[in-house]
Amino acid sequence: MPELPEVETIRRQLAPRVEGRVLRELRIDDARWTMPLPPAEVEAAVSGRRVERLGRRGKYLVWQLEDDVHLVMHLRMTGTLLLDPPEGTPYARVHFALDDGARLLFCDPRRFGTGELARSSEELAAFFAARLGVEPLGDEFTAERLRELARGRRAPVKAFLLDQRRIAGVGNIYADEALFRARIHPLRPAGALRPAQLSALRESVVAALTAGIAAGGATIDDFRHADGVRGSFQHEFLVHRRAGEPCPACGGAVRKMVAAGRGTYVCERCQPRPRNLTLR
Ligand SMILES: [Zn+2]
Repeated sequence: MPELPEVETIRRQLAPRVEGRVLRELRIDDARWTMPLPPAEVEAAVSGRRVERLGRRGKYLVWQLEDDVHLVMHLRMTGTLLLDPPEGTPYARVHFALDDGARLLFCDPRRFGTGELARSSEELAAFFAARLGVEPLGDEFTAERLRELARGRRAPVKAFLLDQRRIAGVGNIYADEALFRARIHPLRPAGALRPAQLSALRESVVAALTAGIAAGGATIDDFRHADGVRGSFQHEFLVHRRAGEPCPACGGAVRKMVAAGRGTYVCERCQPRPRNLTLR
């Protein structure tokens, strides 16, 4: 699934092409994309409006349109947003036509991606307040804030990082990479981390996300850039998907385990397992 760096990569590629242009027409071919709103209602609300800004919050892409109208997209598992794609590109669900002739296609084989409408800044703020916590690349993501979020949490820190209502935009890849960088075991309870560990974790989340953005995101399954190119961060993973390979820090073997119900990669020499946990 695209995580924050993948969505930010798309945003950075598309923003110069769409900002200031008029979204001449939005055509939705799949009613599931806008549920529970009917597609025609969303099409009518956004078509013909100038794009003031293409923003991002967590893993959401936000089209800020004139008159305080916002189209909020989530790519989910397999969504890609392609600029001027070839004719006959499969799995098209939504078509964007801009006033300069550029076309954007939202393709999504598994059809989990969503498009939602916010008709005011207040509605947009309420939408995100109900779904997302702190933005990890924003100024508000401080060590102190992370301490507050973790306080009293018995959940494993991996699950804590994946919870979008606490920290927005971190998924399975970047959680593994951040925990390795911080030398913290994924099963350690979030609330049991010491202040120094939480500071290291904050730094590591930022560093992992920043490295991902610098590499144009990671392509494991379907993620593509707006021009169809694959991201390259999968070649730079420190531990994620590297089971059996040597740890880049100590040379010990990276192993795969399950944490928060997800395949999780760890070097248990660098990230010592909490003593009260037995091997599964
Ligand atoms: Zn190691």
